[in-house]
Amino acid sequence: MERIKMTTPLVEMDGDEMTRVMWQMIKDELILPYVDLKTEYYDLGLEHRNETDDQVTVDSANATLKYGVAVKCATITPNAARMTEYNLKEMWKSPNGTIRAILDGTVFRAPILIRNIVPYVSNWSKPITIARHAYGDVYKNTEIKVPGPGRAELVFTGEDGREIRETIHQFTGPGILQGIHNTEKSISSFARACFNYALDSRQDLWFATKDTISKKYDHTFKDIFQEIYDEEYAEKFKESGIEYFYTLIDDAVARVIRSEGGFIWACKNYDGDVMSDMVATAYGDLSMMTSVLVSPSGVYEYEAAHGTVQQHYYKYLKGEETSTNGIATIFAWTGALRKRGELDHIPQLVSFSEKLEKACIKTVEDGKMTRSLASISTCENPVVLNCLDFIKAIRETLDSLL
Ligand code: NAP
Ligand code: MG
Repeated sequence: MERIKMTTPLVEMDGDEMTRVMWQMIKDELILPYVDLKTEYYDLGLEHRNETDDQVTVDSANATLKYGVAVKCATITPNAARMTEYNLKEMWKSPNGTIRAILDGTVFRAPILIRNIVPYVSNWSKPITIARHAYGDVYKNTEIKVPGPGRAELVFTGEDGREIRETIHQFTGPGILQGIHNTEKSISSFARACFNYALDSRQDLWFATKDTISKKYDHTFKDIFQEIYDEEYAEKFKESGIEYFYTLIDDAVARVIRSEGGFIWACKNYDGDVMSDMVATAYGDLSMMTSVLVSPSGVYEYEAAHGTVQQHYYKYLKGEETSTNGIATIFAWTGALRKRGELDHIPQLVSFSEKLEKACIKTVEDGKMTRSLASISTCENPVVLNCLDFIKAIRETLDSLL
């Protein structure tokens, strides 16, 4: 078979630990034999980030803005232990945070559904995609532990010197205080990313806040979404046969549980943090969760939702077998290649990506899987494979589909 040609390079962001090992296996077994791969390679492995003072992360994000599509391997976000382990010059920031800030993006996470893995919520027959606003609120807060009686005030001082002042509470004893914020710019970007993604994936969009209680803060989220929808998206949604639906967050939670899935659930930062863990767990397995960062200008960065699978990597270094499941990382590649194919009008690349995804699903449905999937599968006698053998099994299925 002749390898599929590409015209525009994909931005390739390599990463750390077990996912870095898998990255190479996936390229060798599932991509390079079939695609004449064209990438602009950035090594986001922690050692190279340290050598370049993290410039490589910034460069990779700028390259993504230039070319439009990136695929990223999981990366270590350094903490104190990693400072020693990798002898770091500095505790470099989370690469995902840096890239998100440059692309001004929203993260969409969706589970990969497999017939013999039944979600804990049995009526969820279609994936629920969570879109989490990744800026502000409680994640950029200012807090005070109130020592005793006194008045707490909220004060805004404009650049023109104008002051707005509100009493928060007249304390009669000790307590706690928290100041949070968001910006119209960030909320608008979030809204546009959600509307674009809904159109792109032809799914309804749900959004919810607590606007009845928070009449200025949460209500502003509701209003911005509605204004942008009415002005820029209502027509397009109608043409696509999809819907934008706003409700209160508690009503949304109840409806989500009763639903069959198949929509995008846009969440404020905290709601998204909490609900994405609930949704991921209910669908079965962290190693089956995809993730894509979408900027309001339509730039895409695909990755797996899980981390570098550190514990498996230490086993790998000792020469032991690991049960790491590569499916979410493979879907990062297929997502990126499919998008590249769509943008560059290369139908063979789109079709290859679809077949590779089908091959992943069929392999598991045929009873071949890694350990964590076998433990939740309804399959009678699953064949449990190690990381590389599972990738090889997917390749066999892929060859039978091509
Ligand atoms: P993790 O890498 O997601 O792994 C946590 C556990 O989940 C693993 O020990 C494993 O459980 C299971 N797991 C995750 N992915 C799996 C897969 N593909 N196949 C099989 N099992 C899988 O999270 P972590 O150990 O907390 O974090 C490790 C590093 O990843 C950290 O340095 C963190 O900074 C980084 N991280 C990066 C990203 C990112 O780049 N997007 C996201 C999160 C974390 P068992 O051990 O029970 O098999
Ligand atoms: Mg969380």
